[in-house]
Amino acid sequence: MSAYHPLTEQEAIDIASQIEEVFPRGARLSSREIGDGNLNLVFHITDGDSGRGLILKQALPYAKVVGESWPLTLDRARIESEALVIQQRLAPGLVPKVYRYDAELALTVMEDLSDHVIMRRGLMELGRYPRFANDISTFLANTLFYTSDLGMNQQQKKIQAGRFINPELCKITEDLIFDDPYTVSANNNYDEAIEDEAEALRTDSGLHLEVALLREKFLTQGQALLHGDLHTGSIFVTPESTKVIDPEFAYYGPMGYDIGAVIANLLLNAAGQSYWSKDQAARADYRAYLLETAQDVWTGFETKFRALWNEACVDRLAKTTAAYQDDYMRRLLQDTIGYAGAKMVRRIVGLAHVADIDKIGDAAVREAAQRASLRIGTALIKNNRRVASFGEVLNIAATAF
Ligand code: ADP
Ligand code: MG
Ligand code: MG
Ligand code: MG
Repeated sequence: MSAYHPLTEQEAIDIASQIEEVFPRGARLSSREIGDGNLNLVFHITDGDSGRGLILKQALPYAKVVGESWPLTLDRARIESEALVIQQRLAPGLVPKVYRYDAELALTVMEDLSDHVIMRRGLMELGRYPRFANDISTFLANTLFYTSDLGMNQQQKKIQAGRFINPELCKITEDLIFDDPYTVSANNNYDEAIEDEAEALRTDSGLHLEVALLREKFLTQGQALLHGDLHTGSIFVTPESTKVIDPEFAYYGPMGYDIGAVIANLLLNAAGQSYWSKDQAARADYRAYLLETAQDVWTGFETKFRALWNEACVDRLAKTTAAYQDDYMRRLLQDTIGYAGAKMVRRIVGLAHVADIDKIGDAAVREAAQRASLRIGTALIKNNRRVASFGEVLNIAATAF
């Protein structure tokens, strides 16, 4: 198309106007840049006449973080578009349709999901999403099973893994999630009021052992093609629909990392409900809904993953060794819980926070929610290798609020 440069609104319109599957010829389009501008531009292109829309997402060659900027590969746009195509094939209807990918411009043209809401926002407004647990557990089971050695040709899997090495975005995770929160780092970001908590994270050697083991697994285990950033800000919902976006961190890693991301974000919202819920009864009710959803995500995942294993496993030894399946599922549960804990901790003391907690308007309530999140997060990390059922997560959460 043309050499890389950040698109203007007019250029975005010109590109969108060529997508004939969506816009009638000669449509009068308008554009609005709606990204949060840290890593990517997101243009929302609309046709006032037909009411149709399209999204153009363009990677920027740098990440803007705390006023500074560090270079970041444009290849992540390829990774995102290729991941979306694979996810669409394995979990139809659960990701936006990709219309075009332009390597030169690091640009993905995709389905407009503006009729959905970002789940994090929805949960802050006490929304209920009856399809969510079923949809996201299908997404997780299908994408993780069919990209692993259990569900795809094992030589093809190695070749596919080679297209998703993603060293620069993995490095962000390795530093921001599995290192910075446990040391003194300029990347950390937390209120002085919880310095005692940060100090505890820096000095707990038992915690450090578990984080080191989780980090090792993230660095070395190419188990399946992960989404890699599956927080509730990467999930669009309505009561009838679920769509996963933003897989630019996709790489071959441990499955529990994706499942844990979903669980962590439900629990962070539950911690934030001391502010978002209007009264005690509403709070108890909504927290129960969130915990039930977390349980349903795990149970749905486990049931579907076992069914895929029983019906579609390509590995002879795995298929005929029932005890191996049980052992594998136990390890997946433990990884899920460990990664969920690590994800909660980083959202309180690390660089990037979540609105569910950060936007709490009352400083004392916010501090209490931060402390509750850290209690849950550290308990999940410390117990991960002992846990035998998801119910233990619910017990940890229930006693932390
Ligand atoms: P980033 O990688 O920069 O976080 P995202 O893919 O998460 O980019 O998109 C940023 C925001 O742009 C989303 O929170 C959402 O508001 C909007 N957006 C992204 N993709 C779509 C889409 N397909 N439909 C509608 N809005 C979208
Ligand atoms: Mg963003
Ligand atoms: Mg992103
Ligand atoms: Mg995003």
